[in-house]
Amino acid sequence: MTKLYAIYGASGCGRSLMPVARQQLAREQDSSEVVFIDDAFTEIGAINGHRAMNYADFLNESAAVKSVQIAIAHSHVREKIAHRLAQDGITLWSIYADNVVLMDQIEIAEGSALSPFVTITSNIKIGKCFHANLYSYVEHDCIIGDFVTFAPGVKCNGNIHIEDHAYIGAGAVIKQGTPDRPVVIGRGAIVGMGAVVTKSVPAGVTVVGNPARILKSK
Ligand code: UDP
Repeated sequence: MTKLYAIYGASGCGRSLMPVARQQLAREQDSSEVVFIDDAFTEIGAINGHRAMNYADFLNESAAVKSVQIAIAHSHVREKIAHRLAQDGITLWSIYADNVVLMDQIEIAEGSALSPFVTITSNIKIGKCFHANLYSYVEHDCIIGDFVTFAPGVKCNGNIHIEDHAYIGAGAVIKQGTPDRPVVIGRGAIVGMGAVVTKSVPAGVTVVGNPARILKSK
């Protein structure tokens, strides 16, 4: 049975995740092809040694099984593409770098991308299409929703709940909660790079600074 894998998005995120995808396949001793999908392509070309095509051309490929990692940082774009893939019967593909550390009792839903040097410790539940970029970690007893994005170097400490579509910027630190009072990062909230989050963040707001405060629109 022929299999075809793809990294959806050939911009920064996708080109950084392609080597992670190759590591994943090498570990599984799977010699199937992995291509780039990007809707900006008008015809089939090549990027970094991989065939690159738009989604319509990908659908025309003859492989019996197709799996796709959506390597686009914008979470709502990831969700839109995930719906389209589901409608077309294409599975979401999770890719983990070789040196990712995964400890005990971890549940991670489909379509996640764990970049090099990511650590996920114990008793953690994570939703669909999670992106943990370089050197991020998730400590014990965290619950993370769907389409959450961690830029590089995010420090997510213990007992933190992060709701769907939240974006955590590079180098942000989130203070640990307690089992009865987790720190909650609300749905769609944005935590600015380098922010030091000391308390829960409401849905939809942007917080920046140390200690992190809500950024008011001018
Ligand atoms: N893209 C796509 N289909 C879509 C939306 C985006 O193929 O429906 C592609 C877009 O052409 C671009 C990439 O996804 O090449 C997103 O790149 P961007 O630089 O915005 O973000 P990043 O790589 O950081 O996620």
